[in-house]
Amino acid sequence: MAKLDSLIEDLVAANRILANEGIVDAFGHISARHPDDDGRFLLSRAISPELVEPGDIMEFTLDGAHTDSVPGKPYLERFIHAALYQTRPEIQSVVHSHSRGPIPFGLTGEKLRPVVHSCATLGAEVPVWDAQTSFGDTDLLVSNMSMGLDLARAVGDGNCILMRGHGSTVVGKSIREAVYTAVYLDVNADLQMKASSLGKATFLSAGEIEKINLRLSQSRPGEGFNRSWEYWCRRAGIHSKPGESL
Ligand code: MN
Repeated sequence: MAKLDSLIEDLVAANRILANEGIVDAFGHISARHPDDDGRFLLSRAISPELVEPGDIMEFTLDGAHTDSVPGKPYLERFIHAALYQTRPEIQSVVHSHSRGPIPFGLTGEKLRPVVHSCATLGAEVPVWDAQTSFGDTDLLVSNMSMGLDLARAVGDGNCILMRGHGSTVVGKSIREAVYTAVYLDVNADLQMKASSLGKATFLSAGEIEKINLRLSQSRPGEGFNRSWEYWCRRAGIHSKPGESL
């Protein structure tokens, strides 16, 4: 199978997984960088992720311009993806969602930090981006490159960002990694909230985070991001491709 077809198949699977795991609902989206052209990325036309089929995948340049003849309307917030691919050459996939778990941490000043080993890809502390700071009163949607680039600056070299009053965005060096981090961002938010209601939570140390992420980066087929991918594919009713590249 051609690289592009295979990637589109994974991107469609990722849409279904994120919907099935409750990370996206009617809204939210996942993209992947084009496998043959670093200057482009792939993202569905504007429909609910659960409904995405291969024919819905559109192609964009890194300023968010639509470049193919796929009919339909692009997502308004494609600039989140465009800006992150433009500023972070190593990133291969981006997930934007309004998953509920992390949202309170974007509102209160309470930092979202990893509390369990499976959540180390979040990094030591998840930053918060507030559209109000640079743009004043908006409808909170990232609807142009200027907002996308401001958000990307706040992400820095991290993997996750909370967007005040809106949702969150995560990046990964593969579709599987981005899906993993999006799911575990939500898991961590839930566990941190529960732990905090009992008392003072202990967070992973910087050294623990580093060791866990090193282990994940050395995963083989059937381990790490691949293992979770196979599990989530099965749960979403998708026939996965075990053992393929990370
Ligand atoms: Mn949004």
